[in-house]
Formats: sequence, C-alpha cells, structure tokens
Amino acid sequence: MTADLSPTGRAANLARMRTETFDLLVVGGGIVGAGIARDAAMRGLRTALVDRGDFGSGTSSKTSRLVHGGLRYLKKFRIGLVRQAVRERDRLIRQSPSLVRPLAFTIPAYEGRGTGPLTLRFGLWVYDFLSRDKVLPRRRWLTSAGVQDREPGLAASGLGGGGVYHDALTNDARLVLALVRSAAESGATVANHAGVTELLREGGRVVGARIRDRMTQEAFDLRATVVVNATGVWLDRLRSASTAAPTLRPTKGIHIFLRRDKIGNREAVVLNAKRDGRMLFVLPWGALTLVGTTDTDFDGDPDRVLPTPDDVRYLLEAVNEAFPRARVGPADVVSAYAGLRPLIREGTPKEESDISREHDVFEDADGLLSVAGVSLTTHRAMAEEVVDRVCDRLGRKLACRTADAGLGPSPGYANELRALGVEALAAGFLASRHPLADIRPWLGKPSAEDRIVPELPYPWIEVSIAVECEMAATLDDVMVRRLGLFYESPDQGLAVAAGVAERMGAHLGWDAARVENELQAYRELVAEHRTFMEGHDR
Ligand SMILES: Cc1cc2nc3c(=O)[nH]c(=O)nc-3n(C[C@H](O)[C@H](O)[C@H](O)COP(=O)(O)OP(=O)(O)OC[C@H]3O[C@@H](n4cnc5c(N)ncnc54)[C@H](O)[C@@H]3O)c2cc1C
Repeated sequence: MTADLSPTGRAANLARMRTETFDLLVVGGGIVGAGIARDAAMRGLRTALVDRGDFGSGTSSKTSRLVHGGLRYLKKFRIGLVRQAVRERDRLIRQSPSLVRPLAFTIPAYEGRGTGPLTLRFGLWVYDFLSRDKVLPRRRWLTSAGVQDREPGLAASGLGGGGVYHDALTNDARLVLALVRSAAESGATVANHAGVTELLREGGRVVGARIRDRMTQEAFDLRATVVVNATGVWLDRLRSASTAAPTLRPTKGIHIFLRRDKIGNREAVVLNAKRDGRMLFVLPWGALTLVGTTDTDFDGDPDRVLPTPDDVRYLLEAVNEAFPRARVGPADVVSAYAGLRPLIREGTPKEESDISREHDVFEDADGLLSVAGVSLTTHRAMAEEVVDRVCDRLGRKLACRTADAGLGPSPGYANELRALGVEALAAGFLASRHPLADIRPWLGKPSAEDRIVPELPYPWIEVSIAVECEMAATLDDVMVRRLGLFYESPDQGLAVAAGVAERMGAHLGWDAARVENELQAYRELVAEHRTFMEGHDR
C-alpha cells in the first residue's frame, strides 16, 4: 500500500476517523506513538494515530540524535538496559541504512579525571560483548599519541590514552516520520495537528477520544476499542482523570550547534565535563558540531522548554576545556534547542541522573494504556510490548512483524535520478531521504533542484515533497523537522523563510495573511530560542 501523506490524504484520514471504529487509537506521534502505530498496523489492526502538533514535534526531535546502547549506563551496572539498547541499535542499523548511520566515537581518558583507563577498557569490552549481531567495528584502545592523531584538537595535558568505539547517528525527526509513513503504508490512518481534547468513556471504560483538528478547529469523536496514551511528557494530562499521582518527573536537556571548523572535532568525541563529571557528546553534523546534553530538573510548562544562558554556558565551558583552541562563546552558537526526558517518577531520587531510564506501561481502571519511554533507540521493542498487550485486550493472537522489516528509503536509485538530469551530489542527497516516487513529480519545476541556502544541501524540491508527501502543514514543520534549516542555517533560516512559506502557500492555497502569520510564528520561534544570546553580538 502507498501512503498518501498529502493535504488531501490528511483530510481523507480525518474523515475516516469520524466514521470508522478502530481497534486502536494511538495518541501522540513521537517516536513511541509512531512505533506503536506502525507495529499495530503491520499486524493488521485497524489503527489510528493522531498528534496535536507535528509528528515528532515533542521530545523526539530534541535529542542527541544517537541510536546507541547508552555507554554511561554501564557505570550504573544497568546491563539489561544496555543489552536491549545495543541490540535494538544493531537492528536499526541493519534495517534503516539511510536513516541510521554508524559513527566512530573517541573517548579520551585523562589522569585524575572521569573514568580511568582500566575501567574504560573494561566498559568498552562489555559494550562490544553485549552486541549479538556485531554489525559495528570492534573497539580499539589508543595511546595518547593515537588519540591526538585521531582528534588533534583535544587537550593534550594529562591525556593517558583513549578508546574508540562505535554507535550510530540518526536524524530524529525524520526517523519518526519514516515510522509514520511505514504505519500509513501498512494501513494506519494518521493525522498531525489533530489533538485529543478529552477521552470518551462509556460504563467507566475508555471507548475513544474527542479530536480537534488544529488546522480547521473542527472537533469530532473517534471511536476505538483500545486507546494508547503515548504523549510523552504530557502523559499525565490524559491520565489525570484516572490517577491522582503524577507518573513522570521530566528533566531538561539542551543541545547547541557550533561550526565544526571552530571546534576541530573530526568525528564524535565523548567528554566528561570538568564541572560535574557529566558525560557529554560532541558530534559531527555536516559542517557543524552538535554538543549535548545537560540534565536538569524541570517543573515548568512542558509546552515552553527553552535553552537558558546557564545551560548554554555549561556546554560551551565543557567544549572549550576539551578543545582548548575552540574558544567559543554564545555568539558562536548557530542554534540551540531544549527537550524534556519523560522519566518515570520513582520515589524521590537524590539527583536527576538517578531517575529510572526504563520505559513502563500503565493500565488504568478505565482501560487507558499509557506508555512512557526514554529512548529513541528502543522504540521498536517498546512498541512490540505495548501492541502485545493491545492484542491480548482484543483477544487476537497476532505476531509482531517489525523485527526484520526495513525502514526508510533504500538509496540505491541515485543513478536513476542522475539519468533524469539531477546533479550527482543532489541525487545522492535526495535518494538518501525520499523514495523516488516522491521526487519524480517535482523534478524540472522552476528552481526545484537549486539549494534553498547555498551552504546546505536542501533543494527547493524538498519543500514540495514535505507538503505533498510528508504531511507538513505549517512553516515550522518544514523549517524545523522536514528540513534542518532552523538548526543548520547561519541565520536559522530567517532570510529564506518567506520564500519557503510562499512555496508552501502555493501548494496549500494560503493567502497573503496566512503566509504572514506563518512567518510571524516562525520568527517568534527563532527569537525565543535565541534569548540566551542577549548581550552577545554575532
Ligand atoms: C535532551 C535529550 C536527548 C536525548 N537523546 C537521545 C538519544 O540520543 N538517543 C535516544 O535513543 N534517546 C534520546 N533521548 C530520549 C528520547 O528522545 C525520548 O525517550 C523519546 O523521544 C520520547 O518519545 P515519546 O514519543 O514518548 O515523546 P514525544 O516525542 O514527546 O511525543 C509525544 C507526542 O505526543 C503529542 N501529544 C501530547 N499531547 C497530545 C494530545 N492531547 N493529543 C495528541 N497528541 C498529543 C505531542 O505533540 C508529541 O509529539 C533524549 C531525550 C532528551 C530530552
């Protein structure tokens, strides 16, 4: 089945949601909800998936973008957790080669600081040992000269060697989108910008939900035998009718993008911040470097999570210590973002990083199933467990089919694009992100293959693909999640936003006032993500 994620497809899906009864309604289209919808649809369940914002617009697009086993959990002897994550990592690398790419990490060991060489070597051995499929190169140990050879920008003083190991990097928002597409291809009825405002109950049992289409403000009732609440940090809002105590205790993590030539990292580097010993990642992202993350308690409004000057200062301090020639300050930050970890509350742990990192499924008296998960990497396993429970509730024995299923575009057709006249670099880039059928209709249109921003690979054709084939409905859906202009453009895409909005408007029938509203909302989004910069000129 092909997935129709066009504006007409979205309208048709919402119409189906009004009239059909579903086996399963999944509320929340982050990695967890999208994974559950995919698994359920692949087993043949009549499945609906809604998100009140864009797919992936919650925590799932604010991550470190790692598909990893979580090396630091070994320090806490969370062997079971790491084993599962390592195995799901290996599976994702095999199943989604265009979305999940292996990456080498250098982890330097400094005398008197962080984890000592012996413990580190043992930890890396365990990390490799836990992988069953061995899809990644094995760890290696380097002398201090070897570390400096790999990463010449790292501080040399006290360096006593270091390890090299592998994990994988992904584009988190596009990984979620690939799951949504796969769910739709398997028959799921999906809609973004469609929020659940309340649950419908009959005889004390949840039988569906009231949905509001945030594009038209129309509301309707959707009926489903089972409802799964996969709303991440918003989980307690839907559960509160049935439970008194909050399930979650979120913590906040921020990331910053910097120019890679300023930092000097060649590949990925793992650091221990001097200030508190926290493990941080310095990751290559094209011409940029992604640095993260912080971990601080959060009790504010989950709809407004922003990087503060202190958060940014902490990361800059750690980068400058590790890469002494970098000398970067707030004005060097290309972009910053913040997300909330949907961590499960367990008693009152002493510090944020002691809170459980495992997922859990809660079943309330009214039948609502809620799932809170704390990793992109293990979403498939989480989804399998939840859909097993859904099948039990439905009294149907249906085997999980995601264990060996491919995900995302298979990039083998770049040559076909070249034969259609697309220049080699653009052909490789497009083929790694979209199926050929999504690209073909827009080839040859004015400026289709021209780059939107000269420094970045995104061509204008991707705006059309985003709207017509990926359900992008607002300017920030395109600027932030379909394309990475918000994160990667030197001005966060402000100079090209009007052009992008006009192109979207041509597809979506926007008038001048709507284009202006979209632009205003985007400018505000950028401005609030730059408040940490006040007083620091670029
Ligand atoms: C700073 C940080 C870094 C991280 N780095 C990594 C990493 O590198 N690798 C990794 O594996 N994991 C990482 N994680 C963990 C991972 O990102 C999360 O565990 C995961 O994204 C949670 O996904 P989710 O689907 O539960 O939540 P979300 O992505 O937040 O999805 C919930 C969705 O529900 C929707 N929603 C809310 N209320 C409603 C409603 N009423 N109706 C409809 N929809 C609704 C929201 O719009 C949202 O899209 C990181 C987390 C953080 C915070």
